[in-house]
Amino acid sequence: MSILSRVVAIARRKSPWICRLNAGSCNGCDIEITPLLSPRYDAEQLGIELHGTPKHADIVLISGTLTHRSRKAILDIYDQVPSPKAVVALGSCPASGNVFAGSPTVLNESLDTIVPVDVWVPGCPPRPQAILDGIARAAKLLEEGATRSQLARSLQGQQAQPQPQPAQPDLTQPELARCEQGRP
Ligand code: SF4
Repeated sequence: MSILSRVVAIARRKSPWICRLNAGSCNGCDIEITPLLSPRYDAEQLGIELHGTPKHADIVLISGTLTHRSRKAILDIYDQVPSPKAVVALGSCPASGNVFAGSPTVLNESLDTIVPVDVWVPGCPPRPQAILDGIARAAKLLEEGATRSQLARSLQGQQAQPQPQPAQPDLTQPELARCEQGRP
């Protein structure tokens, strides 16, 4: 990693910008995010900022149960977040559907099947301290280049590397002579 990349990685850990997505929450998890901005927890003092646009975010915070309608929104927003990026799943709903599981509008699958989740923050709802901890862990993964999207990209890069070609057998003297004379 170059010095510039290292500085950017440290800056990202010290000041991760968050994009929040409610995929179908009862709002319980979202209410627990609000105290993070209050003087009691003061997440901004730690460099954590909530931003309205995914294009400025490092971390996507996804709360709520997953519905058929929210699936496309999750993918759209995830795609708009520039790399490198991390995903934090908030509460029990993104993992299992929680109390909404079995509803006809609910996807009976975990968030992990739609986007790569780096940190799960359990709870219904999780406490603000747990949310802060989840964001800090995601920021650390970003700094280390160890989020699931970063690891997948580096794996793809390795696979795209040109493979060493087997050495061609040397031509025999008669073959070489025929080539020089332009004969097959
Ligand atoms: S985990 Fe609990 S509080 Fe959070 S959205 Fe689901 S039901 Fe609501």
